[in-house]
Amino acid sequence: MKKIGVLTSGGDSPGMNAAVRAVVRKAIYHDLEVAGIFHGYQGLIEGNMKKLELGDVGDIIQRGGTALYSARCAEFKEEAGQLKAVEQLKKNNIDGLVVIGGDGSYRGALALTKLGFPCVGVPGTIDNDIPGTDYTIGFDTALNTVIESIDKIRDTATSHDRSFIIEVMGRDAGDLALWSGLAGGAETILIPEVPSDISEIARRLKRGKDRGKKHSIIVVAEGVMSGQALKEQLLEKADIDAHVSVLGHIQRGGSPTARDRVIASQLGAKAVEVLLNGDGGMAVGIQNREIIAYDFEEVFNGNHKFDDRMYNLSNELSI
Ligand code: ADP
Repeated sequence: MKKIGVLTSGGDSPGMNAAVRAVVRKAIYHDLEVAGIFHGYQGLIEGNMKKLELGDVGDIIQRGGTALYSARCAEFKEEAGQLKAVEQLKKNNIDGLVVIGGDGSYRGALALTKLGFPCVGVPGTIDNDIPGTDYTIGFDTALNTVIESIDKIRDTATSHDRSFIIEVMGRDAGDLALWSGLAGGAETILIPEVPSDISEIARRLKRGKDRGKKHSIIVVAEGVMSGQALKEQLLEKADIDAHVSVLGHIQRGGSPTARDRVIASQLGAKAVEVLLNGDGGMAVGIQNREIIAYDFEEVFNGNHKFDDRMYNLSNELSI
């Protein structure tokens, strides 16, 4: 292994830059050359890349987004696009590739590995939805952004005796909603992993109202339903008229937290170690504080672990 490539793909997440920096510096430390590939798989197909030196990744550890840019690339989903990518990798004498992204990006990395090109996946997504790793890069920053928003919305909720529905991201996973709901003291949390009984939620909110509670915070994961749809159901079933706040893309941006920077550094470096060992077709992750590498198949055959004890606790604490 003499030269590796690194790209960021799919939805950006805070900490991707810290991961790129770790990949580049760890590789150079081990006398590898590094090509930074711009705009994800799109740039790979087009050969849009540049040799990265130590200084090229200076001053990015604190920045959100990705200095390598990201993209969604439909052409790469087809084998013809993947073969073009392999051609570019060979033409540029690249021996291994680090892909920083979510599970869609991992599928692309698996496809390249199956075509004989070793790839390693680094989990970069705010959704925390990748099976086999306890955390993904960006989750902690997004969580803190959501908490800040909940705290601010709570000020208005208490001042005006209003109920608020806060819609948070997470795609099909409820981690962002569950963790932020618990940390933000939400009365009710709706996540895709637990079927929502609107009548029960309505009863619960009504019980609180009858007890004299004048406002409440309801956190709904986008994977359950939109905040607007929930508002309409609560109005119909419980006569509760809540305001809706959709946090949207502010959850994806911002300077990464210390935790995200640290795990990005650890995981980026681990990815280089995996390639140096001559392995491909693997993802890196964290399990019980250990930095690990595991087969891509485990990602696609496994389920993201849902913490039902945390969910039960959130219910107990919000009676
Ligand atoms: P994320 O990586 O954040 O989950 P996407 O699902 O959009 O984001 O995937 C990012 C890119 O990965 C896609 O635009 C596409 O180029 C590639 N990709 C996604 N799914 C596949 C697949 N099944 N096979 C090959 N490439 C894929």
